[in-house]
Amino acid sequence: MSEETIFTKIINGEISSEKLYEDDQCICIRDISPQAPTHILLIPRKPIPRLADASEEDKALLGHLMLKAGDIAKELGVDDAFRLIINNGANAGQTVFHLHLHILAGKAFSEGMV
Ligand code: 5GP
Repeated sequence: MSEETIFTKIINGEISSEKLYEDDQCICIRDISPQAPTHILLIPRKPIPRLADASEEDKALLGHLMLKAGDIAKELGVDDAFRLIINNGANAGQTVFHLHLHILAGKAFSEGMV
């Protein structure tokens, strides 16, 4: 069993956080080091290390996260323009090995992928 990540500790309440949203499958918090005026993390309660570790049984959960990302963007008034990012693996910039979606908004993004 791998060591608990900081997100598991946040989910379990061992580390405090300001939750913007939570349900039985996920929590949503502000990123501690925002890269945009709006920088939100959407984190499944299930500690899947990377997107590439998700399996068929996670299909509904992954769909739920995508729908919630849209709902939260609407709630925050940024649904007109936001980016949804998942870093998979250290070489892609992943630092916390508990799957999470970044919702970024409130700044001008360049055209294209990055
Ligand atoms: P990654 O680089 O793994 O895709 O994203 C991890 C994100 O978690 C980073 O943007 C980082 O700022 C954020 N983060 C790391 N530790 C904490 C924490 O204790 N609280 C919150 N709210 N965000 C954190």
